[in-house]
Amino acid sequence: MLQQADGHGSGSDAHGGEALREGLQEFLGGEASLQQLDDLTKVNPVTLETVLRCLQARYMADTFYTNAGCTLVALNPFKPVPQLYSPELMREYHAASQPQTLKPHIFTVGEQTYRNVRSLIEPVNQSIVVSGESGAGKTWTSRCLMKFYAMVAASPTSWESHKVAERIEQRILNSNPIMEAFGNACTLRNNNSSRFGKFIQLQLNGAQQMTGAAVQTYLLEKTRVACQAPSERNFHIFYQIYKGARADERVQWRLPEGAAFSWLPHPERTLEEDCFEVTREAMLHLGIDAPTQNNIFQALAGLLHLGNTRFADSGNEAQPCPLVDDAQCQGSVGTSALLLGLPEDHLLETLRIRTIRAGRDQQVFRKPCSQAECDTRRDCLAKLVYARLFDWLVSVINSSICATPDSWTTFIGLLDVYGFESFPNNSLEQLCINYANEKLQQHFVAHYLRAQQEEYAVEGLAWSFVSYQDNQPCLDLIEGSPVSICSLLNEECRLNRPSSAAQLQTRIESALTGRPRLGRDRLSPEPSFTVLHYAGPVRYSTAGLVEKNKDPVPLELTRLLQQSQDPLLKVLFPADPEEKSQEEPSGQNRAPVLTVVSKFKASLEQLLQVLHSTTPHYIRCIKPNSQAQVQIFHREEVLSQLEACGLVETIHISAAGFPIRVSHRNFLERYKLLRRLRPATTPGPHGPCPAGGQSEWPPCAEPAMLRGLLQDILHALPAPLHCGRTK
Ligand code: ATP
Ligand code: MG
Repeated sequence: MLQQADGHGSGSDAHGGEALREGLQEFLGGEASLQQLDDLTKVNPVTLETVLRCLQARYMADTFYTNAGCTLVALNPFKPVPQLYSPELMREYHAASQPQTLKPHIFTVGEQTYRNVRSLIEPVNQSIVVSGESGAGKTWTSRCLMKFYAMVAASPTSWESHKVAERIEQRILNSNPIMEAFGNACTLRNNNSSRFGKFIQLQLNGAQQMTGAAVQTYLLEKTRVACQAPSERNFHIFYQIYKGARADERVQWRLPEGAAFSWLPHPERTLEEDCFEVTREAMLHLGIDAPTQNNIFQALAGLLHLGNTRFADSGNEAQPCPLVDDAQCQGSVGTSALLLGLPEDHLLETLRIRTIRAGRDQQVFRKPCSQAECDTRRDCLAKLVYARLFDWLVSVINSSICATPDSWTTFIGLLDVYGFESFPNNSLEQLCINYANEKLQQHFVAHYLRAQQEEYAVEGLAWSFVSYQDNQPCLDLIEGSPVSICSLLNEECRLNRPSSAAQLQTRIESALTGRPRLGRDRLSPEPSFTVLHYAGPVRYSTAGLVEKNKDPVPLELTRLLQQSQDPLLKVLFPADPEEKSQEEPSGQNRAPVLTVVSKFKASLEQLLQVLHSTTPHYIRCIKPNSQAQVQIFHREEVLSQLEACGLVETIHISAAGFPIRVSHRNFLERYKLLRRLRPATTPGPHGPCPAGGQSEWPPCAEPAMLRGLLQDILHALPAPLHCGRTK
C-alpha cells in the first residue's frame, strides 16, 4: 500500500488538499469549475446532488466521459461525435506515457487494460464490464473498444500479407453487424436494443497482438420472433431482408413488395440498422458464403409466412382447428412449408394435432389442439428455429475468429449485457435480466466495495468504513437455497401440476415470507410478487411464469424439423433417434430436465467465474434522457441511474482509498532492485524477502527501474489536486 489519497470518507481533513480544492472551485466559480472536474472524486462534498450537477455541467459542455474513481461514467451524447472516436485519438491514448493524464475516455480504460495484461504488476487477464440501462450506450461502447483494440493490438507484419477484409481484427469487428442484425431489435427504449447478453474474449499472444476472439451469448429473447410489444419491432434481420432483398430474391423468398406480415410490425419505419448489405458483407467476410446466406434468409422468410398462419375455433373438441379464411392467412402454411423444406400437410398436422403417449405401453393418442394451443405451437416452432439459427451463427462466428489454443496467452473480456428492466408488466425475461444485473452488481460490490475495505481492516490501516448496499439478500431471495424464487419455479415445473397465477403467488409469498427483499404490491391488479432490486422494486406477474420456465418444446415439433429437406434446417436439427425431448404432459410424464432459470443460472455462474479470474474495469453508461434527445439532461432520470449503481458510494471509497494494490510477491518482483538502495535487514510481516541477490541486476538497469517505479506511482495517483497522506 503506497498512499491513501485525500478522502471524503476518511473522516480526517487535517491537511491542505480540501481547502485548496474548495478555494480553487470557488475561484473558478460554480458550474464552470464543475464542468472541468474530470474526476468525480474531486467534487466536494460528494453527494448525489453535487455529482449530478457536475455531470450535467459536463454534458452541457459536450464532455461525455468522467472518471469516478475506479469507474468511468459515460454519458450518451445521442449524436454523432466522430472526433471522439477517431483513429488519431486512439493512437494518442495508446502512445501516451500516462493515458490517465489525458481527458477521461473509454480509450483510457482500454489502454490501461491493455497495459495491465503485459504489466509486471499483476499481469493477469482483464475484463471490462460495461453496464447501464437500455439505450445508455453499452453496445456502442463495446464496439468502440473493439475498434480500439483492433487498432492498437493489430499485428504489424500481417498488414502486408493480408487483405484488410481477411485480417483477424477485421473479422472480429465484422462479427458485430451479424450479431446485431440477428440479436438486436427496435424497442420503446432503444432503436438498436440488444436482446441477448454478450461476453467477448479478445485473445492476445505474448507480443500482445490480437490473434482471435471468442464470443459467448446469454439468453436471447427468442419470444420476440413471434410476439412483439406494441410499438416495438421484430429482430432487425427480418426488416433487412424484407426491405433489402433484390427482385430475384423477393421471388424466391416469396416476399413481394408491400406484403403484410403479422410478425413484421411497423415495416414503414426505416432505421439505420436496416442495412442488409452491411450484414451480407460481414457474413461473407466471416466465411458464410452466398448460398448459405440465401438459405438462411429463405428460412427467415419461411418464419414470416408461418406468422401469417392463424387458426379459428373448430367449435368441436374432436375436430382440428380450421385455418382463418382471409387473404393474409391463405396459402401461408404452404409457403412457409415450402421455404422451410417441410411437407405442407405434415406441418399443418403438427401445428393442430397433439400426440400423447400414455399408459404402461406408451400408447399414442392423437388429440386436436385448441385454437390457443395451435397458436402456441406455431410460435414455439418459430422460436425453436430462430434460437437454433442464432446459436449456430454464434458457433460459425467463433470458428471463424477464435484463435488456436497455442496462439494466445491472455485475454481482455468485454461484457455487454442487457441493463436492468422494469416495465408495468414484467415476466420471466425481466426476472432473468434483473437477476443477471444483481449478479454483476454483486461482483462489483464484492470486488471493489467490500473486498477493498475488508483488506484495509485486515492490514490494520486507518479507515472509516463507507457503507454500501449489499445485494446478497436479494440474490438469496432469487437464487438461494434451499428456498428461493428460482427453486420454487423449478419445483412447480418438476411437479408439473396445473396451478393458477394466484396459486403461484400464494406459494411464493408463503414460502418466502419475511425475506428482506420480497416486497408486496397490494394494489396490483393481477397476481404478482415484487422484488426489491438494488436498482429499484420490480413487480413480476405470476401468470405464465411456470410455463415460460419450462419452455416446453413438443417432441413432434423437433421431429418435424428433423425431417426437413432444407440443407440449413438439416444442420440445425440433425436427425437423432435417441434425442430426449420434453414431451407433452401425459399422466406420468417427467418434468423437463433443465428449466430456463436453471440453465441461465448455470451460464451466469460460469461467466462470474471467468470475471473473478480477471482484473475487472467498470464503465457505467448513463442515459441523460429517455427520448434520445441531444443536449437534454433529465436530472430525475439520471439521478435514479446514479442511485441504482451506487455511484456515490463508489466515489467515496475511491476518493478515500488506496490507489495502488499490489500483491507482495509482484511488488517484490518489480522492485527487488530497490533493496540495493536500502537493504532489508529485518524480515517483514510476510516473512523474509524471496527476491534474489542484488547481483542479478546489472547496474545500468537501476535508473530504468527507478523510473518505472516512479511512473507506476504517478499513474496510480488519482488527481493532481489531491494532497496524499503518506502511510
Ligand atoms: P440495450 O441495453 O437496449 O442494448 P445499450 O446500452 O446497448 O442498450 P446502445 O445501443 O449502445 O445502448 O446505444 C443506444 C444508442 O445511443 C445508439 O444506437 C446510438 O445512437 C446512441 N449512442 C450511444 N453511445 C453513443 C456515443 N458514444 N456517441 C454517439 N451516440 C451514441
Ligand atoms: Mg446493447
